[in-house]
Amino acid sequence: MWLASEFRRTVRGMRDLINEEAENLRFIEQKARKVSRLYGYKEVVTPLVEHYELLAAKLGEENRRRMFVFEDLGGRKVALRPEFTASVARLVATKMQSAPRPLRLFSIGSLYRYDEPQFGRYREFWQANYELFGSNKSEADVEILALTNSLLKEIGLKSYFFKVGHVGILRSILSHDGIAEEQQNSIMQLLDKKQVDIALETAKNAGSSKSSLDTLETLLNIKGRQSDVVISEIYEAVKSYSEALEAAGNLSEIITMLKAGCVDADLLVEAGFARGLEYYTGLVFEVFVVDMDIAVGGGGRYDRLIELFGGGQVPAVGAALGVDRLSLALQKQRQISQRSEERRILVVAVESSLFGQAFKISNMLREKGFIVELEVMRRSVSKALSDADRRGITHAVIVGSKEIKQNMVVLRSMRERTQEIVPIEHLFERIMQ
Ligand code: AMP
Repeated sequence: MWLASEFRRTVRGMRDLINEEAENLRFIEQKARKVSRLYGYKEVVTPLVEHYELLAAKLGEENRRRMFVFEDLGGRKVALRPEFTASVARLVATKMQSAPRPLRLFSIGSLYRYDEPQFGRYREFWQANYELFGSNKSEADVEILALTNSLLKEIGLKSYFFKVGHVGILRSILSHDGIAEEQQNSIMQLLDKKQVDIALETAKNAGSSKSSLDTLETLLNIKGRQSDVVISEIYEAVKSYSEALEAAGNLSEIITMLKAGCVDADLLVEAGFARGLEYYTGLVFEVFVVDMDIAVGGGGRYDRLIELFGGGQVPAVGAALGVDRLSLALQKQRQISQRSEERRILVVAVESSLFGQAFKISNMLREKGFIVELEVMRRSVSKALSDADRRGITHAVIVGSKEIKQNMVVLRSMRERTQEIVPIEHLFERIMQ
């Protein structure tokens, strides 16, 4: 008898990884392990199946509901791990309780969440996970951010940015009015899901004063890439809340130290940024790839989790990188670079005084993966263009004095014989069209 066709398919949300997907998974895994070694993180291997109670303890309502839970044959209520942190925290609270601090641990493997399958969201996915235990100082937060940045560079990812925030800022405004931790958790989860109005309504019903609600609303609108400006706006917004000021000071110190260490990561600071997992107490961050609307990684500080697991007060900070999403980002990047290589570009300066500008534009386009030839014979534009046809050039960029004053150039499509004036910052997209 034949197996029915529905059973020949993988279970919904589960995937077979073949060819490039399997190769990418192993490639990223190898790079993640290399970075763990370079930063002194020791690998630990924890079980896929854990007690439900351990995993559920601090996961957050949303993720708790999405666990694969079952009873084993011995009648124990167990679950497939939806994250590494609970297992690693269990280790630190038990077998590794007397290990010297700081303790740096790395884990990598598959996780299970009953998420709704869609682009970049699966029920079985892989994470590379780094946790640093024993330091409550900003240096530790900085190390985790820098390590994450190193991994992204190591796998060759371009055009990504870090979104950073600090849950201590938001939580201390709520604590100021005596709002219980449980209610704070629900508010954080609503903020994480961008349900701002409901979050504020919940805070109001829980007893937030008018001035605290106004402060929260102001904070939710503070964000930007100029971190010093954003930090001073946060200070101004929370000036009458001493604990929130302290949290803002901590975020400021982390960013300053990161920059002092020349970590050239692109930062978007967002005062209202919260994450769904309940255990965060300080810095929180997520990494996004430009053009992909989902986070490829995230993490933050969780200073109270080990205590909850009976391991005493052990501050901790960690990062989890989603291997599947990193793989998608790499695939997308490769497709773009393959498509770029099909374009062959000639850059011509109308006058020799504009050669420097033409040179810069050529390099900018090469960085995007285009093959670029620069006119080096000082020929007239029309001569250079008629030669371009014979050389298989697809696009010509003509740098003229009138346009360059407005940061524009003329872009000519050699195949269609049309041309338009384009801002330099949009050249890449126009050429790719
Ligand atoms: P979290 O453990 O929720 O902080 O997530 C950390 C990273 O894991 C995210 O930034 C994603 O890259 C990845 N991730 C989380 N959930 C999924 C999922 N359902 N499918 C694929 N990747 C996921």
